[in-house]
Amino acid sequence: MVCKECYSENQRVTPLLKPEHCLKNHTQYICGTCGRCICIEKDDKRGLYRWNFPFKTLEIAKLYLKTAEVICKDGSGIYEITGKNNRVSYKIFHTEKDLETYLLKNKDKKCKGRKPVYISKEYIENPNAEIRKLNKEEIKTYLKEQKESNK
Ligand SMILES: [Zn+2]
Ligand SMILES: [Zn+2]
Repeated sequence: MVCKECYSENQRVTPLLKPEHCLKNHTQYICGTCGRCICIEKDDKRGLYRWNFPFKTLEIAKLYLKTAEVICKDGSGIYEITGKNNRVSYKIFHTEKDLETYLLKNKDKKCKGRKPVYISKEYIENPNAEIRKLNKEEIKTYLKEQKESNK
């Protein structure tokens, strides 16, 4: 079943890459419904969050949509971006205006129709959700659960 709060079917799918490093070093959005951890660390040098970067597939972008909503305190959309050599990626923007700004700065990128391929229906703040780093014990448990969920 897809989690109503964080839009994922697998409650331990994230972090996708180097999960131990991410959980130890980065602030996480801990889903108040299913407990899934989503990296919400801000890269201070560039002022960007994980959700600001392009994703390979729509499915992966959806896994990070919640963190965009939390930061923007509003629903957000996922857009299909075509770059050089027709390479397709997916990016999250708060508004269509944010997409326009991005396209103006990146002339080699295109977005067909300039409409989101997926959009959050509404932003609901869950008082049970937490934004913090996990402690050692929680990291251990989470990684164990992640391993089991991937079997
Ligand atoms: Zn991370
Ligand atoms: Zn969830």
